[in-house]
Amino acid sequence: MSKVMIYGEIKGGKLKKTAYELASEGRKLADKLGGDLGAVIMGSAGEQFAPELARYGVDTVYVMESSDLDTYNSETYAQALAKIVSEKKPEIVLLGHSMQGKDLAPRTAAKLGIGVIADCVSLELDGSTLVGTRPMYAGKCNAKWVTLGSPQMASARPNVLEVVESAKAGAVEKVSFAADTNRPTYTTKDLNLDTSGKVDLTEAEIIVSGGRGMGGNDFSLLEAMAAIFGPTATVGASRAAVDAGWRSHSDQVGQTGKTVTPNLYVACGISGSIQHLAGMGSSKVIVAINKDPEAPIFTKADYGIVGDLFKVVPEFNKELESLLK
Ligand code: FAD
Repeated sequence: MSKVMIYGEIKGGKLKKTAYELASEGRKLADKLGGDLGAVIMGSAGEQFAPELARYGVDTVYVMESSDLDTYNSETYAQALAKIVSEKKPEIVLLGHSMQGKDLAPRTAAKLGIGVIADCVSLELDGSTLVGTRPMYAGKCNAKWVTLGSPQMASARPNVLEVVESAKAGAVEKVSFAADTNRPTYTTKDLNLDTSGKVDLTEAEIIVSGGRGMGGNDFSLLEAMAAIFGPTATVGASRAAVDAGWRSHSDQVGQTGKTVTPNLYVACGISGSIQHLAGMGSSKVIVAINKDPEAPIFTKADYGIVGDLFKVVPEFNKELESLLK
């Protein structure tokens, strides 16, 4: 029986990075509780991921094989997760706070009659009680939360938990599932996945973002910087840039966009409004390039460059290229 159970999200035929983050954290918690770590994977293609998860300390991978689970559907996935949690009775259940996790965690918690600590940036144990720390009031403070009832459920913000390899000879257990079609439900008719191959903003290790200061939809300087940094880097935008139609909404960082936690965030021509900071203020290192020395972004930045981005970024890229070559 697993004391801790994580949900391994599959997207575009791959395990999401959050699965490795949760497995690594789950391993630590399970060791402290003196029990096993389980991982749940849904869909017919799930079994192939078991060896990968075992490398991050998972003892048993529960593969819920059913054609009902081949495509994400809120109701059937919540039914499936609630079913396995009820059967295996873990003390702690962890999900990623991804787009899917934001939907699945509260629905599953509601079915189980328990609470969920959403969007945690750290997890710890106080005895056997799970304590989740989560930012509140657009990142102005962090609060520690616990849930009542059993199991204790939390979702963790992508990119904040450390990935640690800890080889295990993980077992695979297949779990059958058939959706309860008596429940009011809906079907997913079409799934429009981003096929650009671009790394998801919430999982990117480096983000180069542009704001109104870009002056138009030509973000090629920023695309070039991201390309120099490599495949774990991507381009983001402020809402002003998105509202102007220069970038798509999926690129927006901030309160009404995505919350990101990269190792490096480079803000170009972004003033640093409270709503933008709410989405990127937890980045590990922040670099700001802005021609206004009074721009609020500099109060949050670790490194600031005051200047015209159209002069600074080409020089920056040249220097970066020679450093990283
Ligand atoms: P501006 O504030 O106009 O800043 C542009 C900056 O570019 C300035 O600091 C200027 O000095 C600099 N600049 C101009 N030209 C150059 C140049 N050539 N070189 C260098 N620097 C230059 N915003 C978000 O980003 N994300 C959100 O999710 C979000 N959600 C919101 C939700 C609500 C409910 C509300 C009310 C607002 C929200 N906003 C959000 C909008 C937010 O308040 C700001 O309007 C927005 O972040 C401003 O974007 P910006 O910094 O690109 O533009």
